[in-house]
Amino acid sequence: MRCCEIGVRTIYFFALLCFTEMSMIQIGDKIVSRELFDNHFICDLPSCHGNCCVFGDSGAPLEDEEADELSNQINEIKAYLRKESLRAIDEQGSWVIDDDGDKVTPLIGREECAYAVFKKEIAWCTIEQAYEEGAISFRKPVSCHLYPIRVNKIGNGIALNYHRWGICEPARIKGKEEGVPVFRFLRDPIERVYGKEFYDELELVFSELNKATTE
Ligand code: SF4
Repeated sequence: MRCCEIGVRTIYFFALLCFTEMSMIQIGDKIVSRELFDNHFICDLPSCHGNCCVFGDSGAPLEDEEADELSNQINEIKAYLRKESLRAIDEQGSWVIDDDGDKVTPLIGREECAYAVFKKEIAWCTIEQAYEEGAISFRKPVSCHLYPIRVNKIGNGIALNYHRWGICEPARIKGKEEGVPVFRFLRDPIERVYGKEFYDELELVFSELNKATTE
């Protein structure tokens, strides 16, 4: 073997080693947690009952524009809501400010999101239902759609982190059984928020990681 081949291979080896050991991977102005590639996830509603709409200290986080969308389209959404939800929204408004000062969806008591409806003991999102039936143009809060990705602002960019919540254990089991990594399960919301090009980059990173770990 010639020296230059050894050199190139050594550099390549160390590059792969660094890549495989990275916990965060930079793609453009985004830092992506390695956990989105290494963990598996497929929501398993019959097992988890959609409890992400029920558990937690406050409602779903909303961007400013999303809070405006809810305010503007609340009359159309109301047609899908239960009387408990209507009462909560009439009393609190279509969105509220939580203890951390963030805009979030209102809750019923300290329990489920006011926009949740239950069918066969499974919580569903009425905002999404209204959107799918063409009643409104706002699909659902990005924070719900992207879950279990949590987005954190860092400097001029953002970090996409994996949030591990005990109630989602059935999703981790189902995702592992079917071999679906977290980022791929979230293809639709990732493309909705960050575009197809960014999603394609995630696929590339995933395939490089797989190559690196099998070499
Ligand atoms: S995010 Fe978790 S709790 Fe919500 S539907 Fe998926 S697995 Fe169930």
